[in-house]
Formats: sequence, structure tokens, C-alpha cells
Amino acid sequence: MPHPAHELPPTTVDVSALLDQAGATRQVRLDVPVPAGFAVPLTDFRGEPDAEVRVEGVLESLLEGILLRGEVAVHVAQQCALCLADLAPREVVAEVAELFDDPAQAADPTDLEPGYLIHDAQIDVDALVRDALAQAIPDAPRCRPDCAGLCPSCGIDRNAGDCTCDDQVADARWAALADLDINP
Ligand SMILES: [Zn+2]
Ligand SMILES: [Zn+2]
Repeated sequence: MPHPAHELPPTTVDVSALLDQAGATRQVRLDVPVPAGFAVPLTDFRGEPDAEVRVEGVLESLLEGILLRGEVAVHVAQQCALCLADLAPREVVAEVAELFDDPAQAADPTDLEPGYLIHDAQIDVDALVRDALAQAIPDAPRCRPDCAGLCPSCGIDRNAGDCTCDDQVADARWAALADLDINP
């Protein structure tokens, strides 16, 4: 039984006008929240609350389902994974081209990917948004390719200055060697 429209999550799109209309297309634009539980280390999502992610493109009716081709975009503010410096906020854009299968057209419906199915003449872009963002947002961003990072011993930002921890580590190793009893 179809759900009343107000119960559908904002990530759903009614594709009833495209079903069984191979070749038909229509524009789609959704502004949706960052998916529940979705997080990337060192990353804040910026943008309108509950509309941080833009999904925009064209829906095309194919024999086996509905193809969504376009982009998924989100504004992020990240920190360098090595020195924790704030990076300039920017928009991450992922190109997407994903087929939502029509189970009625499939030889073996159990073979289809659960997040990419047409259900009650609706598609839900939640899985598509998750997959696109997970791939497009760097999980270990760098402030620059040769960031020197923080010293693991004293925490000094090695981009800003040197410390003598490396020497001390080397000294400690030599000291440990000196303590070894090398006689059998
Ligand atoms: Zn850095
Ligand atoms: Zn140090």
C-alpha cells in the first residue's frame, strides 16, 4: 500500500510519470539533510540545516529502471589530518550516474542492490547520497601535499618550527642498546 506523501523521507522522488515510458526524462533537484549517522573524520558539514546536500540532475526512464545522472554536492569544512589546521571551507561535488532498478523488470529481483530500487513508484536517493559523499570527501585531507604534521612527542607544528624530539628518540634507542647484555 502506498504511503501518504507526508510520511515519505525528503530523499524520495516520485517517478510514476517515468515508469514504462522508456526514453522519457525529467529534471530533478533535491536539497536533503546529511544522511543520518553519516560522518567523515575531521569534517563539518556546512549549509542550510536539513538541506546541506544538493542532488541535481536528470532522471531518465530505461527499460530496466530509472537512471539518475547528475551531481551530489555538499559544503564541508575540514581539518588537515596531519597538523589539524583548519582548511578553507569548500564545496565537494560528486558526479553520479546510478540506475534504480525496477524489480518488476528483473529476471532475479533478489539479485538487485537494495538501496537502488524503485519501490511504490518512488526512488530513495539516501544510499546514492551516502555512497557519493563517502567516495568524494577525502577522509585524510591535507593542508598541503608536503605538510610536515605535528610532532608525535611534543605536539609542535613542524610546519611552523623544529623540535629536537627526533634526536632524543635516537638517543633513547642508543641508550637501550647500551643496556643490552650482549654476552651469551
Ligand atoms: Zn597540515
Ligand atoms: Zn617534538
